Amino acid sequence: MTDQPLPPGSTIGILGGGQLGRMLSVAASRLGLKTHIYNDTPDAPAFDVAAACTVGAYEDREAITRFAGQVDVVTCEFENVPAATLEAAAGAADVFPPVKSFEVAQDRLTEKDFVSGLGIAVAPYLAVTSLADLKEAILRVPPPALLKTRRFGYDGKGQATIGTLCEAESAWESIGQAPAILEGMVPFEREISVLAVRGRDGTLRFYDVVENVHTGGILDTSTVPAAVPRALEAKAQRIAGTIAEALGHVGVLCVEMFQSGGDEPSLAVNEIAPRVHNSGHWTLDACLAGQFENHVRAICGWPLGDVSRHSDAVMTNLIGDAANGWRKLAAEPHTAVHLYGKAEARAGRKMGHITRISAKT
Ligand code: AMP
Repeated sequence: MTDQPLPPGSTIGILGGGQLGRMLSVAASRLGLKTHIYNDTPDAPAFDVAAACTVGAYEDREAITRFAGQVDVVTCEFENVPAATLEAAAGAADVFPPVKSFEVAQDRLTEKDFVSGLGIAVAPYLAVTSLADLKEAILRVPPPALLKTRRFGYDGKGQATIGTLCEAESAWESIGQAPAILEGMVPFEREISVLAVRGRDGTLRFYDVVENVHTGGILDTSTVPAAVPRALEAKAQRIAGTIAEALGHVGVLCVEMFQSGGDEPSLAVNEIAPRVHNSGHWTLDACLAGQFENHVRAICGWPLGDVSRHSDAVMTNLIGDAANGWRKLAAEPHTAVHLYGKAEARAGRKMGHITRISAKT
């Protein structure tokens, strides 16, 4: 690895060609950098905006090695990249974020152990590998609780709610009897997230804390500023910084947290994402340097961009048919429209987002 920043004209290899890869590619091009996208299907939204595209399986080590050999640095737009894929890429190019960030974020048990091992609060949890385990765990993490698969869960997938001990069997069946954790339901007042960015030289910066509302396990809106006291905002950022440093992370890292109410509000980390994140899309339109640009800057060894917020913002995801309203949205004042170029508006599919901007309060 070199400490020299990658100059304009260099090529970033991105594993994954969804909307995050697409927005990374657009941000890279604004800085005079090129992207080469690797995706396992030919219909990737990011292919529309990249200098080069490769279709291949993520498990195809030879193809991944060839791909990495053609670029100057490799990054990922999703966290479930197989470890062997990252290793293959790392054999031919620098890979940022580091493998450790993926190892931790890919497995809910490893993630919870890692975060709580840093002295940071998380929801009560126990590992579950069998129905007997689950029944035992329910006695120690009393319902209401959530059974979550350790791996490959996102947007509320791979999860079952448990209200009583009687529901153990159906919950265990519904997650396909996969290794899991049982997690206590947190009576949160609001969900927030912190987007941190860490440079190759260890410089850390944080975007303002954002408040998220999920519907059916999928992010619906992100609002900034979040209605949290200043001291709590600083604490949330400190937590994200501690995690980023412990991972040796490079790039954007999103830490999702629950804020519980009362006179003494507290925070518990829900999960981390070692990548640009949906709850950071508002930064594109409300900050001088958005999360995509800062991820690019970080992995390329550039100075990080200005994360300060110049406007208040509400980001709303356009899920499924909601994107059909693009004409009306495009006519709305103070509204930035982002459409991902996906052909088919399936239910639950993220088709785009809008960010409504107002004067900073
Ligand atoms: P996850 O896939 O873990 O991010 O979960 C998706 C959403 O389910 C979260 O954003 C929360 O709205 C909800 N959720 C997950 N875990 C918990 C929990 N322990 N307590 C309360 N709500 C939760």
